Amino acid sequence: MNATELLSIVVPCYNEEEVLPIFFDAVQKECEKLKNCDVEFIFVNDGSKDKTLHLLRNLATSYPTTVRYVSFSRNFGKEAGLYAGLEHAKGDYIVVMDADLQDPPELLSEMLQILQESNGEIDCVGTRRVTRDGEPPIRSFFAKQFYKLINHISDTDIVDGARDFRMMTRQMVDAILSITEYNRFSKGIFSWVGFNTHYLDYKNKERAAGETSWSFWQLFKYSIDGIVAYSDVPLSIASITGFLSFFASLILALIIIVRTLVFDDPTSGWPSLACIILAIGGMQLFCLGILGKYLGKMFLETKKRPIYIVKEDEHSRGNLNA
Ligand code: UDP
Ligand code: MG
Repeated sequence: MNATELLSIVVPCYNEEEVLPIFFDAVQKECEKLKNCDVEFIFVNDGSKDKTLHLLRNLATSYPTTVRYVSFSRNFGKEAGLYAGLEHAKGDYIVVMDADLQDPPELLSEMLQILQESNGEIDCVGTRRVTRDGEPPIRSFFAKQFYKLINHISDTDIVDGARDFRMMTRQMVDAILSITEYNRFSKGIFSWVGFNTHYLDYKNKERAAGETSWSFWQLFKYSIDGIVAYSDVPLSIASITGFLSFFASLILALIIIVRTLVFDDPTSGWPSLACIILAIGGMQLFCLGILGKYLGKMFLETKKRPIYIVKEDEHSRGNLNA
């Protein structure tokens, strides 16, 4: 067998004080079963407002060889957390996990085995939820519609039910890190970089403790971000709408001319006119809105701001103590 390899476990955490100790124990137990593999944890504290950072400091002090952490200067979002975690991971294999135990740690050994035994055939073992039990039905419904829509209008395949919980090879992670765009939509990035992904199915689990930090509105905005980042179809919709309304106005003009000439019936009434003005005005605003969405993304992208800002990690903490 080959020499001992290293598995990095990347965990973005936002207000996870309740679940973090349970998570760490559960994952550590699973890691003892891993063969020929050492483990390092990289926790990313995404500007938590509770005692998450405090817990991470303690963990890093208690397990100096296995636990590392990065703490942001504020909440930058899960996508930034993922990026920071991947950037700091040193492992030959890297797995991304949520802190709430919705990603079953029991799968870790199977994922690692698949990667190790595939001889480079498989670069990533992803996980897919086959059920969405425990999730509000309305949320599941909209999630389904979103996946249908985005796969319809985007060339990048975005797998329904695929979680961010995935184990990747170093090569694939380097490819992901080479994408430095500011508006990150990980589900798209994972798929865009290519490589072979093998999916494991599992049943949805509810959070072990704590609460989800995603509101319905945030998820809605996230899905719009995904569409804008991976498809230019909305822009085409804008031009098609413009073209169709122009076409409709030509036909309308013809009808009016014919009506006047043949039936000697001059157009009358302002209500129809008001309706037309409103409809066209509405369409124009709608198309402008779509344009604006893309322009806004470009605006943020051209500023080239860093994806995250670190306030503290296990080294700087060490210096502070010294
Ligand atoms: N998370 C984060 N930053 C955020 C929101 C969430 O790092 O701004 C982390 C969170 O701590 C958890 C993971 O992302 O580890 C998934 O979050 P959550 O469980 O709230 O999402 P859900 O599972 O409901 O999609
Ligand atoms: Mg969760």
